[in-house]
Amino acid sequence: MRIGQEIIAELQQRLDIEEVVGDYVTLKRKGRNLWACCPFHDEKSPSFSVAPDKGIYKCFGCGKAGDAINFVMEVDSLSFTDAVKQLAQKYGIELPEEEPEPQELQEHQEKESLYIVLKFAADYFQQLLTEHPEGKSIGYSYLKERGFPDAIIKKFELGYSVDAWDGLLKAATDKGYSTDLLEKAGLIIRKDDKTYDRFRGRVIFPIHHPSGKPIAFGARQLKTDKKQPKYINSPETPVYHKSNVLYGMHLAKKLIRQHDNCYLVEGYTDVISLHLCGIENVVASSGTSLTTEQIRLISRYSRHITVLYDGDPAGMKASLRGIDMILEGGLLAKVVVFPEGEDPDSYSRKVGATAFNNYLKEEATDFVVFKTKFLLKEAGNDPLRRTEVARDIISSIALLSDPVAQSVYLRECSNLLNIDEAVLMAELQKLLRRKKGQDVPEQYEAAPLPQAAPAEPQKATTSEESLSLQEKESVRLLLRYGFHQVGENLPLHQYLLQEVAEIEFQTPVYREILHLYRQQLESGQVINEQFLLQHGSAAVKEVVADLSISRYELSDAWQERHNIYTTQESDHLEKAALQNILRLKFRLVRTLIRENQQQLHTAVIPEEVDQILLVHQELKKAEMELAALLGNVIAG
Ligand SMILES: [Zn+2]
Repeated sequence: MRIGQEIIAELQQRLDIEEVVGDYVTLKRKGRNLWACCPFHDEKSPSFSVAPDKGIYKCFGCGKAGDAINFVMEVDSLSFTDAVKQLAQKYGIELPEEEPEPQELQEHQEKESLYIVLKFAADYFQQLLTEHPEGKSIGYSYLKERGFPDAIIKKFELGYSVDAWDGLLKAATDKGYSTDLLEKAGLIIRKDDKTYDRFRGRVIFPIHHPSGKPIAFGARQLKTDKKQPKYINSPETPVYHKSNVLYGMHLAKKLIRQHDNCYLVEGYTDVISLHLCGIENVVASSGTSLTTEQIRLISRYSRHITVLYDGDPAGMKASLRGIDMILEGGLLAKVVVFPEGEDPDSYSRKVGATAFNNYLKEEATDFVVFKTKFLLKEAGNDPLRRTEVARDIISSIALLSDPVAQSVYLRECSNLLNIDEAVLMAELQKLLRRKKGQDVPEQYEAAPLPQAAPAEPQKATTSEESLSLQEKESVRLLLRYGFHQVGENLPLHQYLLQEVAEIEFQTPVYREILHLYRQQLESGQVINEQFLLQHGSAAVKEVVADLSISRYELSDAWQERHNIYTTQESDHLEKAALQNILRLKFRLVRTLIRENQQQLHTAVIPEEVDQILLVHQELKKAEMELAALLGNVIAG
């Protein structure tokens, strides 16, 4: 359904962010703002704040920020439309009724019936486990042997199907469910003119939709019948597409968000074992190799995945590709490998909960580093194979969407591979250029790919991050003090915009804000935070919300109470603006120097080399001059 602008406008009028956020966390007033423990990350003392006058929230711990609609989208993992719908309902704003198409209606009704019969089956299997003699003596005792307490059996709704052809079939038809529906739900099989239960004499693991509805079943055999597979699963049905589903997600989603990490294991019992160790942010791909849909599902809750591997080198190699897909999906991956012959299930039972938790913490290795080490070990000293490894690793790094992360990895892999960083960079750029021919992620167009920066003496940030910070500072000064005077008849915005007239901001979102600022000025309008919060893109809104709540402001109340008045930032604007401009230029020159040096590696014609060296000299001179100026300003 499309929601009209007038509805969004009305909603924005009526929205009270204090009320909206207050539905999820308990807010306490401190100074001008409200505070709570952050709903997006795990914390004990509040760093999540809401500014009711501005209609925005910001967390100083994890950096999440936005307006009330953003908040609902984030906290409930909703699309913009669905968040607006939910809020409209809360505020009693009527939305246009949508007429479902007859076919849609029929599909909807069919799905509803499937959910009902699947729930019936889940309850039925659960009941057999604890009440039927066969369930008790075979199924329940097996689970007890595995060390599953009753609470866990209940939590995962584990069940048992008796060893008969028509156990479920009879119970369900007695209840009035048609065989057609049972077949469509994947619960019974019709072959020739026979109709019989799919699951017979097995322990049942229901598979749930993230909302908690059972949508399918996995079933484990208990007697050793070589003709039958150990595990069988429901087939694909209108409500179960196995490539979209992760086992355990309905129990894990909140905790994945809270810990900002998702553990990924292989089987049902691995998930349950981790729960037994107190780790609940875990899901299993169960039976399929990881799919892009599954990765997308996880990314709704966190951008970090930790993959737990059995200690089996052959299997590991096969699953490296799966992790490349995680990177491709824009997520970050870590890896934990268990000792040979152990899986998460067996290992956790062997060492116990505490040691297992420690093992996960200590052994988690960044995927790119892990892959490099793993492949290098395989390649041994063969130089040709080592080159192949380098290529393979570079192709993984190329999948990352974050240029800063790319440069960090390049440096690390350069050490591991013992290959010059510049050579790796050249290879990466070649690969990215080739990719560019096909599809170009926006950020490669926008920002030139950074080179791994040599560590700066005081800070460990890369120079691209420093540059981006200065761009952010320019934006902050413009938005907050744009119309303050920094000289005689010289408003800050005029001074700043003049100074950056020749510079293109490298960070897309700051560039966008700068562009909007100029545009508004030209049409004689005043630009402020409110304007950007209403008209900016999601990224712009986030930045503005972030900038609008400053740490210093928040301590106003404390200062008043203690009669402490510190010098205001606005008293020193001239200096602040000058420093910002000089730093911005200094960072930019440094970036240009490195880019220029990079060209040196690929230049072949002597004239080209001369030209590059000439540029280098000029840039170095500029760098020295700026450094001197900056030194004066800071000292003065
Ligand atoms: Zn937070």
